[in-house]
Amino acid sequence: MRSIKDFELFLLDMDGTIYLGNDLFPETPGFLEAIRKKGARYLFLTNNSSKDKKAYAEKLRRLGIRAGEEDVFSSGDATAIVLKERGYKKLYVMGTAALRSLFEREGFLLTEADPDAVILGFDTDLTYRRLLLAHDMIKKGLPWICTHPDLVCPVEGGRDVPDTGSMIRLLEASTGKSPDLIVGKPNRAIIDAVLSLTGGRRETTVMVGDRLYTDIAVGKEAGIATVLVLTGETSLEDYEKQTTYHADFVFPSVGEAAKELNT
Ligand SMILES: [Mg+2]
Repeated sequence: MRSIKDFELFLLDMDGTIYLGNDLFPETPGFLEAIRKKGARYLFLTNNSSKDKKAYAEKLRRLGIRAGEEDVFSSGDATAIVLKERGYKKLYVMGTAALRSLFEREGFLLTEADPDAVILGFDTDLTYRRLLLAHDMIKKGLPWICTHPDLVCPVEGGRDVPDTGSMIRLLEASTGKSPDLIVGKPNRAIIDAVLSLTGGRRETTVMVGDRLYTDIAVGKEAGIATVLVLTGETSLEDYEKQTTYHADFVFPSVGEAAKELNT
């Protein structure tokens, strides 16, 4: 791929890429329009499995982007696809009401009695009882699948809160076992799931994001191209002084990417 004009599916990280906190980057609407104009498609990709897609679509609309639930793909959606592919039907889910209802809508039976697998999501309603049930099931040898590995999740006011990755560490410590699969970025399962859902081809799909160890890493893991934008966590200086991650394209912002798409 010599130009980002060759891609048909753009997977977009959100915070640091198209907005920062509650501020939309002024170039974002033009970038999305440029993708649409060339007949390509985009999806907003998030590792967060605690909220439903409606909440993300609402946030995007509040910021001024035309977006519906069908434009958002979360690690929870990806996990449901993976679980179906593995033939699981009954799940024990540690997660929010939103995550639990996502699995129910996808046809899984949620149960504490004899499930096929234990699913750990971003459980912001965590109780000791839930933890204990998961601990017992994992120790017994049930497959253990986690939506994403983030240790903390940034929230309003510059704070962060313990996320799924920290709960994984707790259960690893208590059970002596590790998850069978972690779905979200930087793991390729989230990309494989999005391609399976959309029918997108690996060669014409690109991941756009601001973080090297998640957005750029997941592209490499999944064998798709990557665009690094410098509006979030990574500065050009940070990028150039490391050698671990290589992005196929680097743009100061999605605005510059839009200019290339429009040429
Ligand atoms: Mg980001």
